[in-house]
Amino acid sequence: MTDFQNVIDKIHADLKDKVNRGLVASYIPELSNVDPHQFGLHLKHMDGRSFSTGVSQKAFSIQSISKVLTLAMALPLYSENIWKRVDVEPSGNPFNHLSLLELENGIPRNPLINAGALVVADILVSRLTNPKEEFLQYVRDLANDQTINYNYVVAESERLTGFNNFAAANLLKAYHNLENNVDDVLDFYFHQCSIEMNCEQLSNAFFMFANHGICTQGKHHLTHSRAKRINAIMLTCGFYDEAGEFAFEVGLPGKSGVGGGIVALLPHHFTITVWSPGLNPKGNSLLGMQALEQFTSETKLSIF
Ligand code: GLN
Repeated sequence: MTDFQNVIDKIHADLKDKVNRGLVASYIPELSNVDPHQFGLHLKHMDGRSFSTGVSQKAFSIQSISKVLTLAMALPLYSENIWKRVDVEPSGNPFNHLSLLELENGIPRNPLINAGALVVADILVSRLTNPKEEFLQYVRDLANDQTINYNYVVAESERLTGFNNFAAANLLKAYHNLENNVDDVLDFYFHQCSIEMNCEQLSNAFFMFANHGICTQGKHHLTHSRAKRINAIMLTCGFYDEAGEFAFEVGLPGKSGVGGGIVALLPHHFTITVWSPGLNPKGNSLLGMQALEQFTSETKLSIF
């Protein structure tokens, strides 16, 4: 049996003092205050065991990792029609890229780039009675942790500087791909991105995707088919214009956020979350990518 504790402790020891650890995101001013020296991992296995190392219990801004959770919540509410409004192809472009959106008449390439996540946010704003409260409760239930919350300061910081997302939302609206007001959709989106979770909470929340769509807390199951589809989208689109590199180096479906978190999973085996706030030029955690490459190389546990 793989000694996961030993493997992740070794990864932590090998990487924790690295000098080149990337740059903390600063385009959302509040995120630039985070200490780049923090580094943690958590693994949750199907057999019930969990393993932690480093700063695995400190909450950080999940940012784009939230896009997987909004998609999971929206799919059962909107069923197949969602794929008429957002595609499932990798974009090969940065997460906030706009020109493809115009070229393709307001249909975002996939639900994990910002424009696609805004369409998913629009669906939740339309379908839920109290969208922010209900989405937060959904995340708390998936992670089985009622302490998870929004960081309102981060949400406001992004609202004040989120010109690119305002542009994307306006473009979507011009192409009739938003039902709601631009401001309402962005308010929901900035809040979903501002949720703070630690490595353990994220491994728990994503466990459903590794577990045939079944949430072990007994709430909010996905069908097996929807879990399969979401995992496929994570593999092909979860790292924007570095999705190929992540598949090549790590070989797992996963999702990153500019808060420096990455969640990855091996279906029917485990979820693993790593956090290191410094980002590479593509906006993915620099040490996080290295840690996961080392993990799958040493354990030989990947989908390939
Ligand atoms: N809230 C961020 C944005 O829209 C999320 C980006 C990310 O984590 N890649 O720019």
